[in-house]
Amino acid sequence: MPFPRFLSLPALLAGRLLQAPADATAEVRHLLLDSRRADLPAGAAFFALRGPSHDGHRYLPDLYAQGVRLFIVEENTALPGTLAAYPEAGIIEVASPLAALQALAAAHRAAFTGPVIAITGSNGKTIVKEWLAQLLSPDEDICRSPRSYNSQVGVPLSVWELNPARHTLGIFEAGISEVGEMARLAKIIRPTAGIFTTLGSAHDAGFASPKAKLLEKLKLFQQPGFERLFYCYDAVPVRAAVAELGLPGFGWTCQGHPEADIQFTLPGLVPSESALIEAHYQGRVHPFSAVLPDEATRQNVLHCVAVLLSRGVEAAEIQRRLARLHPVAMRMEMKQGRHGSYLLDDTYNNDLAGLALALESLGRQSRPGRRTLILSDVLESGLSSLELYTRVAALLPAAGVSRLVGIGPEISEQLTVSSEQSAVWEAENDARQEAGSSLTAHCSLLTEFFPSTEAFLAQLDPADFAHETILIKGARRFGFERVVAALQAQQHGTVLEVNLDALGHNLQHYRRQLRPGTRLMVMVKAFAYGAGSYEVASLLEFQRADYLAVAYADEGVALREAGISLPIMVMNTAPDAFDALRHYRLEPEIYSFDMLREYLATFDIAADTPLPAPKIHLKLDTGMRRLGFDEADLPALAALLREHAAHLPVASIMTHLAAADDSAHDDFTQQQLAVFRRMAATLEAALGHSVLKHALNSAGILRFPEAQLDMVRLGIGLYGVDASNTASPTDLLPVSQLRTTISQIKTLPAGYTVGYGRRGVAAPAERRIATLAIGYADGYDRRFGNGVGTVLIHGRPAPLVGSVCMDMCMVDVTDIPEARAGNVALLFGEGLPLAGLAARIGTIAYELLTNVSERVKRVFVSE
Ligand SMILES: *Cc1c(COP(=O)(O)O)cnc(C)c1O
Repeated sequence: MPFPRFLSLPALLAGRLLQAPADATAEVRHLLLDSRRADLPAGAAFFALRGPSHDGHRYLPDLYAQGVRLFIVEENTALPGTLAAYPEAGIIEVASPLAALQALAAAHRAAFTGPVIAITGSNGKTIVKEWLAQLLSPDEDICRSPRSYNSQVGVPLSVWELNPARHTLGIFEAGISEVGEMARLAKIIRPTAGIFTTLGSAHDAGFASPKAKLLEKLKLFQQPGFERLFYCYDAVPVRAAVAELGLPGFGWTCQGHPEADIQFTLPGLVPSESALIEAHYQGRVHPFSAVLPDEATRQNVLHCVAVLLSRGVEAAEIQRRLARLHPVAMRMEMKQGRHGSYLLDDTYNNDLAGLALALESLGRQSRPGRRTLILSDVLESGLSSLELYTRVAALLPAAGVSRLVGIGPEISEQLTVSSEQSAVWEAENDARQEAGSSLTAHCSLLTEFFPSTEAFLAQLDPADFAHETILIKGARRFGFERVVAALQAQQHGTVLEVNLDALGHNLQHYRRQLRPGTRLMVMVKAFAYGAGSYEVASLLEFQRADYLAVAYADEGVALREAGISLPIMVMNTAPDAFDALRHYRLEPEIYSFDMLREYLATFDIAADTPLPAPKIHLKLDTGMRRLGFDEADLPALAALLREHAAHLPVASIMTHLAAADDSAHDDFTQQQLAVFRRMAATLEAALGHSVLKHALNSAGILRFPEAQLDMVRLGIGLYGVDASNTASPTDLLPVSQLRTTISQIKTLPAGYTVGYGRRGVAAPAERRIATLAIGYADGYDRRFGNGVGTVLIHGRPAPLVGSVCMDMCMVDVTDIPEARAGNVALLFGEGLPLAGLAARIGTIAYELLTNVSERVKRVFVSE
């Protein structure tokens, strides 16, 4: 594939060459974005993207140290250091590095002459893309978006992978959240065919109306050379818009519309049974059978079938291919392993793009200790084994992998790390450590190979993997779920599942509310509101939050020991924790004169020592009447500050609002904010310089945008709970799901009683009662007992019977006849929102979340 010369880019991207690279023939082979690590520095061009809260330009020195030599930067931006700091680098400045990235991808796309299918819609894009790729793989060599890479950044990266010498078809998904975005994606993808999956309510907020959103999405298909749009004819607004825009539609119907291109006749939905489907197309009947357990699957499958039929694939062949379709597990699960290890379980697929993404996640982990990859043969068409495994080996150092377990005949044969490679490896590691990278120390790669999963399991001792962070990545036929099961810590039936993608989504929602330059502190106190401190903090560090806050020094110490390096504020510090503060770079909130004096007595703030005194945050009480200096303290406090102004490391001044969530108290809140501004001004005058000021919690961020000041403190909103009641339902996604299993089911005759104190009574008729493996010691509130609470089993409500016990509780499943021992019961999560449950027992969502006890296993999932 011809790669563009770096020196040809200024003309192509309307940019200006600031400095030519030492190697004037350098080609752009890989695109590198806002990333602190480079997998393949040779031929990588870094685009310094800038967002509301991050700035890719900051990573130039680090990337240069790693060997990256090609940079696209934003004009009028001060780079870290002068050009002389990057003597061998080529640097081009452009008006917008994002637009340049997109323009480059569009130029790359133009060189591909084969068909390209673009998929958009509200739901199902990724599944339809994956299934279509599976279904067409016997006929085509396909380049498709990895996972759900469908954004302004994801689309250019996906399209860049198109290789005209190898691929015969491209399948890319496109997703938008605002007006104007689709036209840009359309120019990059330039589809020749398209699929519109469904029209739902996701991202409604970014558009004037649902119709405006639909029209915006359909811009994807208004491109020269576009030939055919597959869509569901029964979706009336879509049908109308396709006609209105005069798009070359290809509609399919399940409602018998004769004008549609394909009429499907199919029986009602029968879970898990194969249904006979007839497609009426071009005057012929094409019968095939498929399992369509639910409406969403039906939609997704029929879109794919429409594409296959239009390409002339016979019904019998369609049925054969559908039968081999496997579910798309799009999530990576992170879980505790045995012997203190930590597992990243990713069985999504095992091609090169999937592996690169999974390794990126591994590279992001900050846990100390060895990083291990357990990898099966990589299934990738088009590359020779040698080339394939050379590329695999090249991906490993950037992710910090220092141990590789290869399973399968091919990988055992082909993945050799030559002594020269080892030497390069060692040198890279040394360079990275000198550059202050957070990667753990290691110098070479330990490799072990096994011909099969069985051979590996036969000799496996989980203690060999103690304290390692392990990425498990295997193609389906290697059955790596057995490897996960062997390495995973014992699960008792109760799990709190935390969706890290939902967390990221909520973070972005709040970020969008921030004014430019406003920093973001995130509260990860109380085990990150029950969600798990390390994982949440690690995500926040990756997403570039500015600050974390915890309640106690211990919590901060635990984060530091897990490798978190963001600044951390500690709200409640006892003087005996002062030493730990300094040692772990934790910054106390100072809320009283006693504490300030104690601080001054403990630390010699004027001394220039390797471990300087911790920075402090001054807490002012403006109406909460909890912690903080009162307005009456101001003269004395100002005097103290003035005395120590030259050396006192004040990081911020803050206050906390008492009723930011309640409009009935808005006057009071405004008064608090006015007092805060006044007090802060006095203190800044005493210090002689300004410091960060912050007052808003989650509800405040949404309700008092004018008071964002220099920083805000996000808490409950991150975890998907809208304390302000102003967010629309799609703005925030539920993050946590508490679930357990049914231990036993009993049928009780009328009049029998259930549990302690005989408070549950089966009357007047026989009842089926299920005992669940969760009780108040797990954090399931005792007040839910005796009919107050409900759980969901098979999606249906089952009321609590009798009192909640310490480790168990009982629910009535009389109306859920299919309930069996071992089935899952949902305590809260999708379908059982926290706010409603909390109201039933007279508490708030905060308490339900933070009560989930630490003995409940946390499982973290992400796409
Ligand atoms: C917990 C806390 C927050 C966050 O509050 P939410 O209501 O969860 O957003 C902000 N500031 C302080 C001082 C807190 O203790």
